Amino acid sequence: MMYTVNFMNLASCYIENNTSALDQTYTYQFKNEPVEIGKRVLVNFNYRECVAFVDSIEMNSSKTFPYEIKPILSVLDEQPILNAEMIDLAKWISKTSISTVISALQAMVPPALKPKSNDIKIKMEKWVRPLDDHTKTPKQAMLYERLIKEGEMKRSEWLKLSSLSKKLEEMGCVEIFAKEKRTYEEVIEKKPCHIVLNEEQKYAVERILHSSKDVIALKGVTGSGKTEVYLHAAEAVLKQGREVLILVPEISLTPLMVKRVQERFGNDVAIYHSGLSAQQKYEQYQSVRGKEKRIVVGTRSAVFMPFSDLGLIILDEEHDLSYKQDQNCRYHARDVALHRAKTHHARVVLASATPSLDTMARALKKVYELVEIKHRVNQSLPHVKLINMNEVIRKKQSYILSDEMITEMRKTLDRKQQIILLLNRRGYQPILRCSQCGKVLMCPHCDKPLVLHKEKNTLNCHLCGTVLKRIYECPQCHGKLSGSGFGTQMLEEKVAQLFPDARLIRMDADTTTRKNAHETLLKAFENHEADILLGTQMISKGLDFENVTLVGILQGDAMLARSDYRSAELTFDLLTQASGRSGRGNTNGKVLIQVYDEDHYAIQCALKQDYDSFFRHEMQYRHLAGYPPYTYLCALTFISKDESGSDEANHVMKLLKEKDFKVLGVSELLKIQDEKRYRICVKSKSLELLQKEIYDVYQHHRTSKSRVKLHIDMNPLTLDD
Ligand code: ADP
Ligand code: ZN
Repeated sequence: MMYTVNFMNLASCYIENNTSALDQTYTYQFKNEPVEIGKRVLVNFNYRECVAFVDSIEMNSSKTFPYEIKPILSVLDEQPILNAEMIDLAKWISKTSISTVISALQAMVPPALKPKSNDIKIKMEKWVRPLDDHTKTPKQAMLYERLIKEGEMKRSEWLKLSSLSKKLEEMGCVEIFAKEKRTYEEVIEKKPCHIVLNEEQKYAVERILHSSKDVIALKGVTGSGKTEVYLHAAEAVLKQGREVLILVPEISLTPLMVKRVQERFGNDVAIYHSGLSAQQKYEQYQSVRGKEKRIVVGTRSAVFMPFSDLGLIILDEEHDLSYKQDQNCRYHARDVALHRAKTHHARVVLASATPSLDTMARALKKVYELVEIKHRVNQSLPHVKLINMNEVIRKKQSYILSDEMITEMRKTLDRKQQIILLLNRRGYQPILRCSQCGKVLMCPHCDKPLVLHKEKNTLNCHLCGTVLKRIYECPQCHGKLSGSGFGTQMLEEKVAQLFPDARLIRMDADTTTRKNAHETLLKAFENHEADILLGTQMISKGLDFENVTLVGILQGDAMLARSDYRSAELTFDLLTQASGRSGRGNTNGKVLIQVYDEDHYAIQCALKQDYDSFFRHEMQYRHLAGYPPYTYLCALTFISKDESGSDEANHVMKLLKEKDFKVLGVSELLKIQDEKRYRICVKSKSLELLQKEIYDVYQHHRTSKSRVKLHIDMNPLTLDD
């Protein structure tokens, strides 16, 4: 049956429908409704009411379709929530990160605006404004004058003003209208800035603003005052009337940065991160869209804020893995930032003490301008020393804390200075083994040993989150279980035994589940309510505590054991960043790193704090092995309950090899949540070619009704098992 429309208005829409992940637009008709591109509408799809985004519109169209064109049921937004740039961006992300347009749209808009059919609740509240000048008694007139002066008021406040307020409403002098609810915002006092930039900082600001290249790779050692550089550059851009975006890896770990931006720019700052409620996110989003706020500090998703004239984007700690979304639509905030900057003719600063290899390689090829800050503000880098744990164990010292570490900790505490201890493993003991049959206790759903958590006496799977009651005997042979290795909980126990008077704060995923836990713990440490801060890698980033003069890193080489091609880079970054927390004030800092493999170049370069040597070494290895940044990679993981994932992986591998791609695999990965996972890795010299071919694979898979789940990770940051 053909279906013809005559002089109808047509709208093509992306429909929210998770089950079949429809990745195309569908056409609906409308008459006089205020349908606009970027608005959400309600439509009928598959006998269900669905929310859809309007992608394009055709007015007065006469066409014939092979199916019936249904009407748009209603328009949900008064104003478009996405502009043309954002819709194009969603399509670009879909093509480059290989995901559906709708999943890109979902990643882009705050939760309150997500196209969900069940609840679309934007909180409204009643406001009043002056309407009509009836004759009034003098008292009424006075009240009315007050309203004219205010322009508009919340109705709740208006009613509180006087008993006559209600009367004026009844007389028709006042109009009541609905307005989106806004949470009360504290007025933030701007503070004058007393910092005078040093020569290196001044030069950096100058290059950011005036370089002939649009992208600046800012390589500044830890404690070199990069934040101050951002603030000065931001100020200049704001003065031009343009907007600024500052991205940080994790807001809760950078409360200082947020504070400093707010002190400089007051209520011009919007803060956007995953810790906000849906309502708060929505309000921040709207405040940027309405141009009430022109500077945004936020995490990954803040890269999607609805700017209208973005002049500068800064990625602080640009190497950080958290800039990549690892679910659904696997975009990298750095790529999105670079793409948006092109559209807005904005400048981008990629800043880090340990730039990602990709960024550094581009800077050396002069695609970006490289600007370096080589000196710390206080002029002194911490003294770093390795402790060889093989010797420590031979000397029968503790395998948790060596004697040297203990002595140095004691000295630091005696001087009333503070210590940071980094151990990138949470829980009490990571492995429990039966002393009779030798079997390791595994998660019942994953190929992963269960970790003993002593605080709650549980056995936890860190992969799938399963929590079991602690057992003491092997479930098979009833032999006694004995643990090996140690995590942050055991470290905490040990430190408390050694230093009974020292006050301790432990910071890991288990102690930071409550809202604002990070901030509270960091604040306490900053106020010297604790002497020792121990925790996982979350304490290695960005922290700036003047009184910390000792950083101890335990199992500093643990990450090298991973099978990942980037494990050396990750190790070097972690050690360098963590070391950078020591000696930031006026006293010289010390760093002790406990390792087993002291000869590895990642360890040696971290010891000398020598990024350039590390970069050369690592680039050689990447070149030989054909890994990024010399090639582009795409990981395809096929997930199934049975072997069908393996079959499909082999099939796709064959197809891609026929097209002359280099394909690694099929590797069987660890089982997670009772699902088997098979991965192939595709390499190519051309990103465009890779994206195009993988997009085809993805489209084919999507429409094939295969029961195998396919996860595609373009430019994967890690290739763990
Ligand atoms: P980075 O981000 O490079 O590790 P920060 O921006 O956190 O370093 O700066 C480290 C410290 O130095 C901060 O406390 C900052 O206030 C201070 N600082 C930065 N620039 C200057 C300067 N020019 N003069 C004095 N202090 C400065
Ligand atoms: Zn598990």
